[in-house]
Amino acid sequence: MSPSTSSKGKSSGLNQHYEEKVRPCIDLVDSLRSLGVEKDLNLPAIAVIGDQSSGKSSVLEALSGVALPRGTGIVTRCPLVLKLKKISKDNNWHQWHGLMSYRDQTKKLKDPAEIENAVLKAQTVLAGTGEGISHEMITLEIQSSDVPDLTLIDLPGIARVATGNQPKDIEKQIKDLIEKYIKRQETISLVVVPANIDIATTEALQMASKVDSTGQRTLGILTKPDLVDKGMEETVVRTVNNQVIQLKKGYMIVKCRGQQDINEKLDLVKALEKERNFFNEHAHFRSLLEEGKATIPLLAERLTKELVEHITKTLPQLQKQLVMKLEKTTGDLRALGAGVPTDEHEKSNFLIMKIRQFNDALEEVKRAEEDLKKSDIRVFTKIRGEFGRWKLVLDDKSFKTEENLREEVQEYVKTRRGKELPGFVNYRTFENIVKKHIEELEEPALELLKDVKDIVHSCVNRIVSSHFKAFSHLLRATKDPIEDFLDEQFQKAEEKIHSQFKMERIVYSQDHLYSNKLDTVKQNLKVLGQRPFISAEVREMAQHLTAYFMITSDHLANQVPLIVQYHILDQYISQLQNAMLAMIGRNNPGMLLQEDSDVARKRRELKERLERLKSAGKVLSNDSEEGSGSSAHSSMSFSSLRTMFALRSLFRTAHFRYAAAAQFHASSNCSGAKVAVVLSGCGVYDGTEIHEASAILVHLSRGGAEVQMFAPDVSQMHVIDHGKGQPAETESRNVLSESARIARGNITDLAKLSASNHDAVIFPGGFGAAKNLSTFAIDGKDCKVNKDVERVLKDFHKAGKPIGLCCISPVLAARVLPGVDVTVGHEEEEGGKWPYAGTTQAITALGAKHTVKEVTEAHVDQKNKVVTTPAFMCETKLHLIFDGIGAMVRDVLKLSGK
Ligand code: GDP
Ligand code: MG
Repeated sequence: MSPSTSSKGKSSGLNQHYEEKVRPCIDLVDSLRSLGVEKDLNLPAIAVIGDQSSGKSSVLEALSGVALPRGTGIVTRCPLVLKLKKISKDNNWHQWHGLMSYRDQTKKLKDPAEIENAVLKAQTVLAGTGEGISHEMITLEIQSSDVPDLTLIDLPGIARVATGNQPKDIEKQIKDLIEKYIKRQETISLVVVPANIDIATTEALQMASKVDSTGQRTLGILTKPDLVDKGMEETVVRTVNNQVIQLKKGYMIVKCRGQQDINEKLDLVKALEKERNFFNEHAHFRSLLEEGKATIPLLAERLTKELVEHITKTLPQLQKQLVMKLEKTTGDLRALGAGVPTDEHEKSNFLIMKIRQFNDALEEVKRAEEDLKKSDIRVFTKIRGEFGRWKLVLDDKSFKTEENLREEVQEYVKTRRGKELPGFVNYRTFENIVKKHIEELEEPALELLKDVKDIVHSCVNRIVSSHFKAFSHLLRATKDPIEDFLDEQFQKAEEKIHSQFKMERIVYSQDHLYSNKLDTVKQNLKVLGQRPFISAEVREMAQHLTAYFMITSDHLANQVPLIVQYHILDQYISQLQNAMLAMIGRNNPGMLLQEDSDVARKRRELKERLERLKSAGKVLSNDSEEGSGSSAHSSMSFSSLRTMFALRSLFRTAHFRYAAAAQFHASSNCSGAKVAVVLSGCGVYDGTEIHEASAILVHLSRGGAEVQMFAPDVSQMHVIDHGKGQPAETESRNVLSESARIARGNITDLAKLSASNHDAVIFPGGFGAAKNLSTFAIDGKDCKVNKDVERVLKDFHKAGKPIGLCCISPVLAARVLPGVDVTVGHEEEEGGKWPYAGTTQAITALGAKHTVKEVTEAHVDQKNKVVTTPAFMCETKLHLIFDGIGAMVRDVLKLSGK
């Protein structure tokens, strides 16, 4: 059967004008769907649901002109996305075109008759041979002049009881699958209900109303009007007129091919004629046709309109989803880090970087300088709270009132009074009471120690997991010393607290200190007034005890926190940091950095998702570009255009970049500036970074500059075998002759470079700048700079001529020009995006200022006329580095005034 090929375009009756408006809108969603973003975002769609044998397949078949699998039982076993695309009649190079895809399979279909088998085969692959179902999707795209522009999702029919070899919980499984689709705000549910049954009893309508109680997103379709019992017609009319169970979108009624029609091989076009005649001639249902609520062609038109409106309405939501998902995915990816390099040498650098970052994080905690975004309260703030509580315990002890002490003193007086008259304090009694109270403080002091230990322990654990969670070996290797060192320091602190309290049992105070305190206590009592009925010895004793406790409290208030801090924070963290550094030499980085397989998988998935989302953003932004010009879009009063523009702004950085580049290309090709470029060898690890040099030369050339290249006539610090990433021990090379490779032989000794002959000088990056032009690679902030490089920098600076530097070479300016303001990119590694972010610290240590910039930007220090850009300091795409260098060259040329 090939119904559509035989039709003459009457099947779904969409007019040309409407088709033009509808198509771009539906295409937009379809192209998003084909990117696979359905996994990440909910796309607008129409889902067809209904009880078994309600007529779903018949409706779909009539709409699409495509025979879908039919039969009894569960025939639809996977969600089937039916993308119907109307092609123009003139386009008869291909009358009918079908494409089926599922998982990574695609299959071209030449004839509608192939569909049924192809769908059945795909279902078997996805849902097995039995009668089980699967959530995996099959996509069937059909292009024909006889289909409406519509995308529908066919879902399995609701089965009430499991039969044969169906799984027992088949009803639940199917309902779960249906619910997954219809609960999305982006889905319109098309609920197919036979007209000859009581609509209130249908499961599908109940399910739809559960997730869409007002029926905003639900359209009812009544089928089988020819089977309605005599006398029931008016109920059906009332149902279609939305008077029985109300839905915002209302109902439509259609008549499809019955079993007899099929047996008689009635084709779909004839079936449509028959349908029209049926409604025309029906005494009760004719009114429904007149009101536009009956027949398949009108349903097709209505659905298309609904879908377009729905897409328009859901686009802002889609935009929000996309932005949120993009942010989340980028964040998740950053949290996972960039992954371990494969090269052994780079691996150990990576390990050093990881350990250094970890130690830095510990250091921040120790200094109470950690970033508040990472934890809401600083560790030291929490510890300070504990210390505060300790002080309260002490205060409570020292402000003993006479009344508190009365009983206690009386007890001592009663049992141990000596020869003294009332009012004389018995020193032994005093001592005993002091000792007893001080002993009582030991327990809270130890509790303080334990509480602080717990705070530090959980903080360190958190830092360990956040830094090393992807590497289980490294995590384990770190966790062991964490526990051991903490226990060790806890014990040491505990011993010190014990000894402190042992010492406190020696009752002692400097005479004048004690006398002063006693005077204060007595003075206070005078002010407050003395209580009557207190015996003289109790009063006297209370005054002495209060004075002594105040003194003790004062020094314990500091002493115990000092012990705790010293061991649990300072000593413990230093010990841990040292152990981490020791790990570098002792262990095999490859082993420590073995990533858990699911981390690598998650990273891959996140990267794929990010790509999909970015492509989705591009689809939407391209669409808005076309939309502003094409008649198809301009004829639509789309509020979504605004949305699309908003989405486009997400990607505008790229547009700006190209715009800037274009402007540069157009405007500056006649500068005529004489620019010196200083090279440091050839190859990133021991000389000039070749791409950077090349980018500088391209941009200078386009900028119309006259270029001369220079390099110092010195030996390279060493030669790196770039294939292995290791020094080639026996080799030695000359910087000048190596640089000649980049200069195509046209190189001059740097000693001959004079600022008076040039308008500007530019230093590309590459390790050569840190190894051959200076000793930054080994000496960091204490580096020395090659004397000619120093002279050149100083001379150009003094002459007010611009200096351009990129990648690592800004350290040369930082060393030679005091207070210069440069950029090498970002100050945090951000999960490997800025692997050399530590350089920023060295720059500030050199007395220069560092400004954060993106890789596509250049930073201009106007005062010193120094222009810098991060280039390969950023782990990113080459074209972005190229653009950043373009910005640097442009600013250098601008500053040269040529
Ligand atoms: P599904 O299980 O929901 O996909 O239902 P089907 O589309 O397979 O339809 C079930 C049965 O009802 C089939 O035998 C169809 O031929 C028949 N049927 C569908 N629509 C109509 C209709 O409008 N009138 C009549 N008489 N039979 C119909
Ligand atoms: Mg069916």
